[in-house]
Amino acid sequence: LASRESRAAATPMMEQFIEIKADYTDALLFYRMGDFYELFFSDAVEAASTLGITLTKRGQHLGEDIPMCGVPVHAADDYLQKLIAHGHRVAVCEQTEDPAEAKKRGSKSVVRREVVRLVTPGTLTEDKLLSPAESNYLMALARVKGQGGGGFALAWVDISTGTFRLAETAQDRLAADVMRVDPKELIVSERVFHDEELRPVFDLIGASVSPQPSVLFDSSSAEGRIKRFFDVSTIDGFGTFSRAELAAAAAAIAYVEKTQFDERPPLRRPEREVGGSSLFIDPATRTNLELVRTLSGDRKGGLLSAIDRTVTGGGGRLLAERLMSPLTDPASIDTRLESVSWFLAQTALTDDVRAALKSAPDMPRALSRIALNRGGPRDLGAIRQGLQMARTIADLFAASETPEEIGHCLSSLAALPPELLDRLDTALADELPLLRRDGGFVRNGHHNELDEMRALRDESRKVIAGLQAQYADETGVKSLKIKHNNVLGYFIEVTANNAAALTEGDEAKARFIHRQTMANAMRFTTTELADLESRIANAADRALTIELAIYDTLTAAVVDAAEAVTGAAEALAVLDVSAALAQLADEQGYCRPRVDTSRAFQVVAGRHPVVEQALRRQAEGPFVANDCDLSPKEKTEEGAIWLLTGPNMGGKSTFLRQNALIAIMAQMGSFVPAGSVHIGIVDRLFSRVGASDDLARGRSTFMVEMVETAAILNQASDRSLVILDEIGRGTATFDGLSIAWAAVEHLHEVNRCRGLFATHFHELTVLSEKLERLSNATMRVKEWEGEVIFLHEVGPGAADRSYGIQVARLAGLPEAVVARARDVLGQLEEGERQSPAHQLIDDLPLFSAEVRQERPAPAGRSEVETVLSDINPDDMTPREALEALYALRGKL
Ligand code: ADP
Repeated sequence: LASRESRAAATPMMEQFIEIKADYTDALLFYRMGDFYELFFSDAVEAASTLGITLTKRGQHLGEDIPMCGVPVHAADDYLQKLIAHGHRVAVCEQTEDPAEAKKRGSKSVVRREVVRLVTPGTLTEDKLLSPAESNYLMALARVKGQGGGGFALAWVDISTGTFRLAETAQDRLAADVMRVDPKELIVSERVFHDEELRPVFDLIGASVSPQPSVLFDSSSAEGRIKRFFDVSTIDGFGTFSRAELAAAAAAIAYVEKTQFDERPPLRRPEREVGGSSLFIDPATRTNLELVRTLSGDRKGGLLSAIDRTVTGGGGRLLAERLMSPLTDPASIDTRLESVSWFLAQTALTDDVRAALKSAPDMPRALSRIALNRGGPRDLGAIRQGLQMARTIADLFAASETPEEIGHCLSSLAALPPELLDRLDTALADELPLLRRDGGFVRNGHHNELDEMRALRDESRKVIAGLQAQYADETGVKSLKIKHNNVLGYFIEVTANNAAALTEGDEAKARFIHRQTMANAMRFTTTELADLESRIANAADRALTIELAIYDTLTAAVVDAAEAVTGAAEALAVLDVSAALAQLADEQGYCRPRVDTSRAFQVVAGRHPVVEQALRRQAEGPFVANDCDLSPKEKTEEGAIWLLTGPNMGGKSTFLRQNALIAIMAQMGSFVPAGSVHIGIVDRLFSRVGASDDLARGRSTFMVEMVETAAILNQASDRSLVILDEIGRGTATFDGLSIAWAAVEHLHEVNRCRGLFATHFHELTVLSEKLERLSNATMRVKEWEGEVIFLHEVGPGAADRSYGIQVARLAGLPEAVVARARDVLGQLEEGERQSPAHQLIDDLPLFSAEVRQERPAPAGRSEVETVLSDINPDDMTPREALEALYALRGKL
């Protein structure tokens, strides 16, 4: 398209289009023409099919029709949303001069146009394009080579709220750190994008990953860019950052500048997250535990929707963030829990605060649109309402003694400049139009000249109404009307058969000037009417000019107070979350967890937060509460592991998950579904639960299971919590049993973590005789007249049988098959009695560090080198290579 012949052959307008489009080859170009954004060539074809709108053509280019489609400007947000959701980026190209100016340059001149904004998934600000309770992060990943092998850093910004954070990360936790933030768009340098080693990470995270020119990530110019953006002469006051962090922050800023052009969102200064300050949850665990979405992708059924009682968008976003990044510092967790306890003790106040917050507008998002010059009177209205709300809410707390976190919130509310609210309140009308150019948003009585102009306009309108009566009277045409349209302005209209009264006779002829003849009507004007009309038009013009000037001063005042406004909005979000968690605890009977630096893990009468609510909704009997105690046993320092057996459908998965969820909820600072809970900080949480088939990506269930298990065995520390469900199920019995056996030993002897290990290999229960921190637990069942009844109760000991056949019968397997299966089982059990797995425990030396060292490395070569030399990279899939890498790391 951009070739020389192509441009030479184009009409002047097409030439302009082609020139602009050349800079935005990776985006659809919305080319403004009057009241439409039009798309041409392949953009048009793609947009028309995505949006389901008609594809037409406009003129020809190089002898071919030019495909075209268009969307009306007033409905552009809806179309943008759809395009963005389908992974497109859109460059919005506006007319940047009055068409009259272009005409002056010559009849062939094209109106000047420029791209004013690049709309991408991570840089949205419109309410229609955003969901209220979800942050919309743009994330930059920077890699700086050199400093001891190279460092990775992440910077993430939400331009719709101003949040800006930074953290260092490493390759092995990159995916987990990205998924914790769940950005909508990830930008990386071209070099990083094409790095094969990082491909699995990009595949995993799901966000749209866009490669950017490497200069954006240049760490040497990073500091300068940050200084320019924040208009400061030094960034020392922001904290100390690594080179990778600076590079990531600067890349995020550069991308914001690239997409927003001349406008600047009110970003806050970057806040650095200290390494290890949040609970590490690996990607598989995050998905399997269904924290935000279920495995099928719905928010309903996930933990977040079960525990979310917030009433504001900001509160919803904060709760989601806390859930995604639970803390690891007991003191900070306690600060949050204090706030929840405090609200819980003040029911009346909690209700009042929540009721007040319900009508709170989304201040940060309104502020951001105002600062980006994309706002309207209703955004100013939202700030006014938010400021009022802040005042009302602060008053509710008036004389209360508050805990630390709530005290901070109240000071943030108090820090709002009081004159800002007064200013907005006196200037803005009660009812506000959507668009500035509609006018009418300044309150009557606020500005003298404006009032005069409005009076003049209204008075003239009244005079016009009077004129209609007068003309009807004079001409004797009762049905005579004075109407208005955009082409003629005001005009007098009579039906065709009444026209004679206005066209015949000298007096009438002199007075009524003919304007237009329609099929059934004739239109006229008079000098009087024309005079009035121009007075109205002038007054309206002038009034609008005054209103727009007032709008500008108000937005300037709001932008000046941006820091205080976002601070207050954040405070309201914290209050919303704390009050909502108190509400949840009260409604669901949750308890306050005790969280400290011990290795305890004691849950008394724990429940599954999601299953419990679901059972209640379906009135399916109560959820059976269960204890779980992995605290260090006497004389040991490390936590314990439970080996859980029991029949299918007995409740094993539910029990495993509920304990993981309780740990997460406790560390995010929420009350938990239990009678009492004592947890020593968990640094990393791993789970391998359920069969989350990944067949779509060409991996067998068993392969996925082994990859996830490998990650756990390689990474879990003695502070971690590991939840493993049915390891080794996907392969032949002996294979599976052996793998499960070795995994339990590894967890116990090497990882030394707290853990729950559910299995249907009853043979494993003998391990508890040798492994001192391993205990057996089982899901209890009752047998009654050959039927099995699930009690969902966890008790000590091992299941004596799996009841698989009973469960199969319940599922409706034909009676003959059930009977035959019983016979076969009887035979197998007989065989087992003759050579029990029990013997293994005596015959087999225990897995241990010594065992691993028994394999001597050939002289002059380390074990790692030996293994490496056996590897043929060309024969491996990336997945196998990754595993091999893990295995190698494990040998260090
Ligand atoms: P398993 O993993 O042993 O096959 P699940 O955890 O999937 O069993 O549970 C099977 C069913 O039992 C689930 O549908 C769940 O609703 C119900 N259930 C599990 N635990 C409990 C409990 N503690 N109280 C009541 N119902 C439960």
